[in-house]
Amino acid sequence: MTDYVLPPAAINSLEVVGSAKRFPVNRIFCVGRNYAAHAREMGMDPGRIPPFFFMKPALALVEANAQGVTIPYPPMTSNFHHEIELVLAISKGGMNIHAAQAWDHIYGYAVGLDMTRRDLQLDACSNRQPWEFGKAFSYSAPIGPLYPAEKTGKMTHAAISLDVNGQIRQSSNIDQLTWSVPEIIEHLTRYERLLPGDLIMTGTPEGVSAVVAGDVLTGMIDGLGTIKVTINK
Ligand code: MN
Repeated sequence: MTDYVLPPAAINSLEVVGSAKRFPVNRIFCVGRNYAAHAREMGMDPGRIPPFFFMKPALALVEANAQGVTIPYPPMTSNFHHEIELVLAISKGGMNIHAAQAWDHIYGYAVGLDMTRRDLQLDACSNRQPWEFGKAFSYSAPIGPLYPAEKTGKMTHAAISLDVNGQIRQSSNIDQLTWSVPEIIEHLTRYERLLPGDLIMTGTPEGVSAVVAGDVLTGMIDGLGTIKVTINK
């Protein structure tokens, strides 16, 4: 037994639907601007430029569910945005994975939110600084239970939506992804070896907007259930 000078940090994990075992979360990769309509609303060219990636720490994970969880309104922002996203969970790692084999590396899928301090992200962009603090902060990744791929099949077409206080804000289909699920894995593994336990948030469709304390967010992907997240005062 290794003895530590401090208690080691806890392992973050997700519930697996239909199993008593949990999925241990390693890293959280995120794809930027992966729906053309969202790229346009951000004032960017929706062209098929190669996908780009950023990360959130596993600590950002909040285990969400249909019953509802609460996250705090984060400090140092006045423009806190929701981004509803399909999340991939990786069971088999690898480098230079070809799109044709990429499906074999996926353990399952979940509904997730890439919560974003939009003001900090955009300021960082215009000042040519890293956008870390706009994206990679505590409680910024609420994610629902994992649905094993052996039950869902390959996720290529499914409605994805988010409402705030019962009003629809985002509504699209994952077949609108600029870079598909296997293409994301092919591009990412040119740069970095995927490891078992890694998650990939695949990007958000159009309709991102600000939330305030007291708002209730309900995210849904067909076949992956719903998650309900309340922003704490
Ligand atoms: Mn995102």
